[in-house]
Amino acid sequence: MPNHSELVATLRNSYSSGVTKNVTFRLNQLKALLRLYEENASQIVAAVAQDLRKPKNETLLSEVDYLKNDVLNMIYNLSSWTEPEKPEKTLINMMDEVLLLSEPYGVVLIIGAWNYPIQLVFAPLSGAIAAGNCAIIKPSEISPASSKLIAELVPKYLDNDCYKVVEGGVAETTALLNLRFDYIFYTGSTHVGKIISEAAAKHLTPITLELGGKSPAYVDDSVDIEIAANRVLWGKCVNAGQTCIAPDYLLCTKSVQEKFIEAAKKTLSQFYGEKIKQSPDFARIVSDGHFKRVMKLMDGTKIAYGGDHDSEERYIQPTIVVDVKPTDLIMQEEIFGPILPIVNVDSAVDAINFINAREKPLALYVFSNKKSDVNLFLKNTSSGGVCVNDTVMHFACESLPFGGVGNSGMGAYHGKFSFDTFSHKKGVLVKNTKKFGEKMQNARYPPYNESKAKF
Ligand code: NAD
Repeated sequence: MPNHSELVATLRNSYSSGVTKNVTFRLNQLKALLRLYEENASQIVAAVAQDLRKPKNETLLSEVDYLKNDVLNMIYNLSSWTEPEKPEKTLINMMDEVLLLSEPYGVVLIIGAWNYPIQLVFAPLSGAIAAGNCAIIKPSEISPASSKLIAELVPKYLDNDCYKVVEGGVAETTALLNLRFDYIFYTGSTHVGKIISEAAAKHLTPITLELGGKSPAYVDDSVDIEIAANRVLWGKCVNAGQTCIAPDYLLCTKSVQEKFIEAAKKTLSQFYGEKIKQSPDFARIVSDGHFKRVMKLMDGTKIAYGGDHDSEERYIQPTIVVDVKPTDLIMQEEIFGPILPIVNVDSAVDAINFINAREKPLALYVFSNKKSDVNLFLKNTSSGGVCVNDTVMHFACESLPFGGVGNSGMGAYHGKFSFDTFSHKKGVLVKNTKKFGEKMQNARYPPYNESKAKF
């Protein structure tokens, strides 16, 4: 195991030298990140394919292109984001200067997950760099090819004394968490999120937790069911369902269910042909353990479509299950696989009650052309984010914060929110020293009297 204390000490020295506070240095590091993505797109595609058999287009879209846009946005906006902000002044501070400075935290730890193994370490890293921090990144051991590639590429492109990669699993992460960081950014399960939170609390380290959960999709009879099926199933099947904001289950009436299943069959055959297993466009489950876990969730369920699987290849066919009861195993945990249970509800209100009886989801999907029903969901449910009439796509809208609430996480990032996440917002009041100004201060100075109390 590498000496983690020495790594952190190196980063602390670099941070103390002030090098990362220089905006030109940050810009150069962000430009180096851009080159890393551009010059290694095919290695990234190959590594992610090795880990997840993820199709090339999915990796280009969700890892490489996503990251390029992310860092381009940072490069373009960095100088304005790093300028001191000038908040509104109240009467009492009219003659003073009121400033809000974005100050880096210092040395930060970024822990990634395996399902989008490149993006989930580099997207937070770009925010950490932009905000002027030093960082250790810890990719997931469950996606070893991606982890190895990250460990090879980072030292080639980024400053070696400011940014380090630590590979490894629970033991390495636990060792890192014993050390003091100035910020921890974690992506992964809610269970491990609690471990991170406890470890951070020992040092009073602020954290962002990007967690998961069961994200519902509600579909009503006012929408074009074929469009809804395309969008729900794309969200469910991209990366074989191993997406934190995949629609986990569907809420709809019995009559919408029948139409949805017919449309779903058409969608899936258009996406993957009749032999889905042979399609190059459908990924595999990441590990034997996760394969067994997802298969077990289907025990005792009524399959309306799909159900084919192959443990050798860790292939699970996109599958729709019906007559699902809230007490069924499949409704107890995040599925993280290409299985779509349908739970019947009678109305939007019924769906809202169902959602509110559970933990707050990372994403909520509402397919409806009834504005009043959409508003009912927006006003009466709580979730990390909402996407109306589509799934997953809110993730790529860089002007929106991405993050969870309650059990699905805390804090958010993407675009400017990444910069803000890794910045301490330091309020600064610069008082005027004019004689006239001093007269106005008199009310707070002793000796006190009745008229000063009224001021
Ligand atoms: P994972 O197994 O890759 O774990 C994530 C990280 O936690 C890894 O780096 C791992 O080494 C570390 N880790 C695991 N166990 C640990 C322990 N006991 N102590 C310390 N560190 C530990 O990923 P996962 O947890 O299986 O990820 C899947 C979950 O992540 C799902 O719930 C998914 O919804 C969620 N997720 C959320 C987002 C998001 O942006 N909100 C993105 C992707 C995944």
